[in-house]
Amino acid sequence: MTRVLRDSYNRTIRDLRVSLTDRCNFRCFYCLPHGEPPIAPKEQMLSYEEIEYACDVFVELGIQKIRLTGGEPMMRRDIEQIIYKLAQLRDRGLEDLALTTNGYFLPHRAESLKQAGLDRITISLDSLKRDVFKQMTGVDVLERVLEGIQAAKNAGLEPIKINAVIVRGHNEDEVADFAAFAREHAVKMRFIEFMPLDAGHDWSREDVVSGREIRERIEERFPLVPVDEVRGSNTSSRFRFADGAPGEIGIIAPVTEAFCGACSRIRLTSDGQIRTCLFSAVEYSLRDVIREGASRQELIDFIEGVVMKKEPRHFINDPGFVAPSRSMSFIGG
Ligand code: SAM
Repeated sequence: MTRVLRDSYNRTIRDLRVSLTDRCNFRCFYCLPHGEPPIAPKEQMLSYEEIEYACDVFVELGIQKIRLTGGEPMMRRDIEQIIYKLAQLRDRGLEDLALTTNGYFLPHRAESLKQAGLDRITISLDSLKRDVFKQMTGVDVLERVLEGIQAAKNAGLEPIKINAVIVRGHNEDEVADFAAFAREHAVKMRFIEFMPLDAGHDWSREDVVSGREIRERIEERFPLVPVDEVRGSNTSSRFRFADGAPGEIGIIAPVTEAFCGACSRIRLTSDGQIRTCLFSAVEYSLRDVIREGASRQELIDFIEGVVMKKEPRHFINDPGFVAPSRSMSFIGG
């Protein structure tokens, strides 16, 4: 009998994001604005064996998509090893194994990721201008990330998604240029609203460029047509170019157009905590349950119990909203 994880609002949980590390070699101001906060000591981090075991149990419980993230997941040594192990879960029901990365290590490693069994990749790219890229990410490596995108294409890690967080006063004037980039390179360009997940808690509503404005800015240059699909649990509204050009646009608007009702996601942090929402105020230590020697059935009971506590929605727009104490780099984007 195939099992399914369901929460108390009858949402089916199919999508697991696994953070491999808190560490990152970038210093994006909207994530780690005041330098890197203290990272979890090594003994608190899940080992590859523990991640593999946890994922094996999650797949038994109906998880179909696993996305590896961080911090910068490619800073974890021998990431190919864990990808290879997780790819074996396809025989047990895993349908999609993906990775989100800043692209820095891709020029030399895209091929080995593909060989290890990775299906797809999402690469973050916040600006096409060298100075703005440096100002937003803290590192002067735009050219290298562009090489990384090309390397991912050459390795066949397609369809490639590119993530750009749009922040007022930084890169909103580049939205249509990003759309041109998607057309030229035949990639899926995804625009993300700035969320209150920055370590410095400097987020302000005025900094958010809404999904609607992003769409308008693109359509001033390139008319769009919604992709004809049921949105389901997808985070993004998808569009293609009206003139039939290659590439695709996705707009992810969690702040102005929350999509919690169809959420199918849970997260596992690198120190083994389950988070049922990006904005959760509580975490549940799967690591402690594993390390206390729980049986597989006890682990299943624990996970099912945690999923039942998944929040109905995020509360960003409610008065009194308190941003989570951990930033995106800890939670796993
Ligand atoms: N290091 C990898 C990367 O750069 O893609 C993976 C982790 S990163 C936390 C995952 C995604 O979260 C990135 O696309 C990043 O831009 C996004 N992100 C981080 N902080 C954010 C925020 N405050 N609002 C919106 N997106 C954010």
